[in-house]
Amino acid sequence: MIYLDNAATTKMFEGGADIYKKYACQSFFNPSAGYNKSFEIAKELDGVRELIKKNLGATKGNVIFTSGATESNNLAIMGSKRNGKWEYVFSLGEHPSVYNVASALENQGYTVHFVGLLENGQIDYEELERVVNNRTRLISVMHVSNETGAINDLVKIDKIRREYCPQALLHIDGVQAFCKLPFNIEDFNADLYTISAHKFHGPKGVGALYVKNPSGLKNIIYGGGQEGGYRSGTENVPGIMAMKYAIENIDIIKNFQYVKELKDYFIKSIDNTEGVKYLKTESPYILSLSFYGVNGETLMRSLQDRNIYVGVGSACSTKKAGNRVLESMGMNIDEIKSHIRVSFSEELSLDDIKNACHEILDTYHKLLEKVK
Ligand code: PMP
Repeated sequence: MIYLDNAATTKMFEGGADIYKKYACQSFFNPSAGYNKSFEIAKELDGVRELIKKNLGATKGNVIFTSGATESNNLAIMGSKRNGKWEYVFSLGEHPSVYNVASALENQGYTVHFVGLLENGQIDYEELERVVNNRTRLISVMHVSNETGAINDLVKIDKIRREYCPQALLHIDGVQAFCKLPFNIEDFNADLYTISAHKFHGPKGVGALYVKNPSGLKNIIYGGGQEGGYRSGTENVPGIMAMKYAIENIDIIKNFQYVKELKDYFIKSIDNTEGVKYLKTESPYILSLSFYGVNGETLMRSLQDRNIYVGVGSACSTKKAGNRVLESMGMNIDEIKSHIRVSFSEELSLDDIKNACHEILDTYHKLLEKVK
């Protein structure tokens, strides 16, 4: 199998699965119980909070464990909302776990702005500048686009925020960036930052929200008051400890350079093929392609028969004719229909990429013959 859908999810580290088992079957204690063994677990969880902060480059703030990025994004946005004059700003490129929360806010009567995307997949900075004002409560944008691999210039966004709406909170959906890109959160002063373990070889159903100033956040679920009251419910200790294992066993710089080689090699192999177009974006982990004349989903299914797995973008795009993110970048409907997403991991070899490109082009040409 050649798995090229690592933006959808990654394979969990075997060592992480061993750790998971240890904390599920031996050190299984509830961190909120009152005895020594539970205190030890609570202390270990605090160690993971510090590790996440260290990896973000955060010298202050806290980390709240959640069930994944969807929950972290909901908590960041719904937990930040305030009644009254306040306005909320998002981009049209956001993942549904942000975009649909924004739409829900709008339906509840809040003032919500959706900023468009540039042709390169980044947020339209000039439009952002025009939309924010002294009523802006929150700006929520993604770090890396899960659809295109575009990296938003967060330093520039923070600059706009500080100039036009210093009172606004900045939330970053960092799912496709954390443990993949080298960065320091203090360079762009994010107030809230979302991560998800299964995107970097951790388990599914585990994530976190970094919060610079927890007192600015309100809980969205009610219960026993775990996680400082910001997220009730017994913590997923085995999952969190397996996430820790993944963080500790990823070499961000080394992987970044290696995966960049894979993406460059892929591009070189398909470039100059008639009908094939790709998007030049900054993240080495994601490549967005169009194969003119062939439906992206058909291509994806045909490749699966050859044991090659690629993505066709977010679930919303497979249900509807269009794709909000790609449309916002100005892509035409033919490009969108013939679009697939290839996403890399350091576990792939150069030979995998060579074989995948050969199979993809062969499949494309055979499908083209059929539709002629
Ligand atoms: N945000 C982005 C940018 C994503 O790529 C994803 C996963 N596709 C999510 C949020 C949702 O993550 P989770 O599966 O952890 O809920």
